[in-house]
Formats: sequence, C-alpha cells, structure tokens
Amino acid sequence: LAARLIDGKALAERVRAEVAEEVRELGELGLATVLVGDDAASDVYIRLKHKAANEVGIESRDLRLPADTPEVELLELVAQLNADDAIDGVLVQLPLPGHIDERRVLGAIAPIKDVDGLHPFNAGHLFLGEPTLVGATPIGIMALLEEYEVALQGAHAVVVGRSNIVGRPVSLLLLHANATVTICHSRTVDLAARTREADVLIVAVGQAGLIGPDHVRQGAVVIDVGMNRSEEKVVGDVDPAVAERAGLITPVPGGVGPMTIAMLLKNAVRAARFRRGLLRFPGA
Ligand code: NDP
Repeated sequence: LAARLIDGKALAERVRAEVAEEVRELGELGLATVLVGDDAASDVYIRLKHKAANEVGIESRDLRLPADTPEVELLELVAQLNADDAIDGVLVQLPLPGHIDERRVLGAIAPIKDVDGLHPFNAGHLFLGEPTLVGATPIGIMALLEEYEVALQGAHAVVVGRSNIVGRPVSLLLLHANATVTICHSRTVDLAARTREADVLIVAVGQAGLIGPDHVRQGAVVIDVGMNRSEEKVVGDVDPAVAERAGLITPVPGGVGPMTIAMLLKNAVRAARFRRGLLRFPGA
C-alpha cells in the first residue's frame, strides 16, 4: 500500500494567499536578504524568496556582497538594516564564507527582525517554550503536520539531524506539541533501530537516500527535508521506496521546500507585527 503524499505546494499556496491579505492590511512591509559570495544553491534559494515576497506585496531587497567581504563590512550592513525603518525582516543567507564568524553575524541581527530565528534571543525563547521568531523550515514542517491532522501528543517523533536551522528547532516544536522526541545525528549508533520506532520521522541530514524502507515503521509519517542535487534533479534524504511503507510522506520536491518559502513570508509579517506593536515582542 503506497503512502498518501503530503502536498506542500498546495498548503504553501494557501499560506501565501493569507500572507498577501495580511500585507494589504499592514501596508508597506520590507524584507532584506544578504548573500555573501556566489554559492549557486544559495543564489537559487534567494531568488525564490524574492519572487515569493514580491508576489505577496512585500518590498524585498536582495543585497549581495563579494565572497572576500571583510566581516566588519557585513556587520556594518546588518547594522544599517537593523536601523532601517522600511525593513521588517533581515535574513543572512548561510553558509557564510569561512573567514566570517557566523555566530557573530547572526548575533548582530536585531532579534525583532530575525526572520530565521537564529539569534540567541529567539533561539532561547524557543528553548523556553515561548517562541518569538522561529525559522521557516521548522514552522513549515509543523504546519504540514497540522494540515494533515497528524496527532503529536504522546507520539514518538524521531528527528534525524540537529542543525540550528532545522533539526534542533523542529525537535523543540515537537516537544512543545507534547510528542516524545528522539534526536539522532552522525554519532547515533544503529540509526535504523531508532528511526523504526518513529510514529513521525523528520529527516534533515543532506544525504540522498540515507533513510530506506528498513528505517521506517509501517504506516509512519515521514517528512523529508533533504535537498540534494543529483545530476539535474533535486532528491531528498529519504529513498523513494519508503513510500511503500510510510502512511504519509512528503515528496521532494513539492513537500517541505515550498513551505519554507511561504513561512519565511509569514515570519516577515510576524516581525512587522512585532515592530508595529500589534504583537508583543518580549523586552520591546
Ligand atoms: P547540516 O549539514 O547543518 O546538518 C546535518 C545534520 O545531519 C547534522 O546534525 C549531522 O550530524 C546529521 N548527520 C550527518 N550524517 C548523518 C548520518 N549518517 N546519520 C545521522 N545523522 C547524520 O544540514 P541542514 O540541517 O542545514 O540541512 C539538512 C538537509 O536539509 C540538507 O539537504 C539541506 O539542503 C536541506 N534543507 C532543506 C530545506 C528546505 O526548505 N527543504 C531548508 C534547510 C535545509 P552532526 O550534528 O553529528 O554532524
């Protein structure tokens, strides 16, 4: 019996329509992205983000700096965006070139504009169970689970990957939703034994086909975050054969990817609400 497919494109379209309505209500809204260097994958993501922002009426600024930009110049640009009243959301595209201290740059973004939720202030609030701004991919995953009425309370959720951008934050969101959460990573012993225990399996590793049918319990819900370029295609971390075992599964492409873009727009609206005092931002 083949799994039901989770349609991330369809939900993302609905979220974008909602955001367009919210932008009309709020009036002008600005999102700035900063890309340092010319990483081809980053360039694609940035272009998708701006196209989506423009479609919902968000003014977006696509700022590009050469790969050898000194850290201090990037910090100056971030400071300018923090001070710019027309900008509600600031996103620094990762990865940054090796000579730049990523933590320092992310920590320089004004927390109230930090639409990726990577500033320690926002990461800390998520840790405390009082989310402020949480990254687009983790909230996109939660929105998919909600849309498909996946019961999380008491369920065993297994997350493979512990990155700051996906694995860790989604693990906390699942915990806050009262799932029992197991976090796996590169040092996990017997990964398949862990993942087979999952009612809900979230995979965010970046290795094509890492998760095969033997890793998945019959009927489990499988969310594949992976985006791996193979020849001309983008493939996930989950082997397509898993669709024969899972109950519900995200396709790649068309699952988590479109939700990430849509939820970034949603975060820009949330940041705008915080800045306008329509939602209370802690300490503001
Ligand atoms: P990172 O490289 O930052 O993290 C990968 C994680 O996977 C690490 O925690 C690592 O463990 C773990 N890992 C590596 N190898 C194994 C293994 N053999 N078994 C178990 N765990 C392992 O990646 P990201 O979180 O940034 O991204 C993950 C994937 O998701 C990528 O393909 C990326 O392109 C994609 N992605 C997709 C998005 C979307 O919108 N669809 C958005 C963001 C990312 P350790 O910590 O021990 O090193």
